[in-house]
Amino acid sequence: MFDFLAAWSKLKVGYKYEIVNGIGFFTLPAFSATSLVRHGFTARCGGISKGPYSTLNLSFSRDDEPYENVLENYRLFADAADIDWDTMVMDSFEHGINIIPVGERHKGAGYLKPPLPPCDGLITNNADITLITGHADCLPIYFLDTEQLCIGLVHAGWKGTLNKICLNAIRLMQLRYNAKPTHLLAGIGPCICRNCFEVSSDLGERFALEYPGIPCVDKAKAGKAHVDLAMVTVAQCLEGCLLPENISYADVCTFEDERRLYSYRRDSGNTGGMAAYIKLA
Ligand SMILES: [Zn+2]
Repeated sequence: MFDFLAAWSKLKVGYKYEIVNGIGFFTLPAFSATSLVRHGFTARCGGISKGPYSTLNLSFSRDDEPYENVLENYRLFADAADIDWDTMVMDSFEHGINIIPVGERHKGAGYLKPPLPPCDGLITNNADITLITGHADCLPIYFLDTEQLCIGLVHAGWKGTLNKICLNAIRLMQLRYNAKPTHLLAGIGPCICRNCFEVSSDLGERFALEYPGIPCVDKAKAGKAHVDLAMVTVAQCLEGCLLPENISYADVCTFEDERRLYSYRRDSGNTGGMAAYIKLA
């Protein structure tokens, strides 16, 4: 039988954190080491937002946060990340599994132009495009094929994870850009950890049934369970034939790291959002 924990032990666990122009960035060392991409995940510092959104809120979907504030935060972010302002393409999350291949005509989607159709993942082989996904507990999943030079970025909450959005992204990168699982890197950025992610025991049971042999569900207090969405995502990467040593896991919990990260669950929805980004160098 396939030994999941043996594969799990080969993951590259950890991250680098640095501050540029007052803005904090988490990065995955395996991606940085290729010199083929620029990528990262923003912390909450260095922006202009106030109150529960302080300070680098990068979510346009918060009701009482002025659009102009978020736009200004994106300007500050793009400067610090050294991203050209008009190269970004944003996801338009709906907790589905739709992935959109994006190109020149999609530049500016979500901030300079209307949002894309509902999608929780973006892929491209265009070196002039910066993929952006928004997060506040949900998993950011990065992809890079080091030979075919194509990238992907996915936003995955429990719904997307249960419905295999990660595997969907891998398959679409193969189909559209001839990506090969053996030279595909995957990485999971900051997200809510298994101890902090409590769901109904019914939902826990659905994960347990879908992933037999993967220890991704813990029993919790009556009627509740804990699910390890990162572990399920790794299982999908392995199902997609990625090599375990090519999978990175930042292992930073958004719920626990209150100083650096927003958490939708911790703050009962009254909070800002972070951005994940990746661009071919
Ligand atoms: Zn946690």
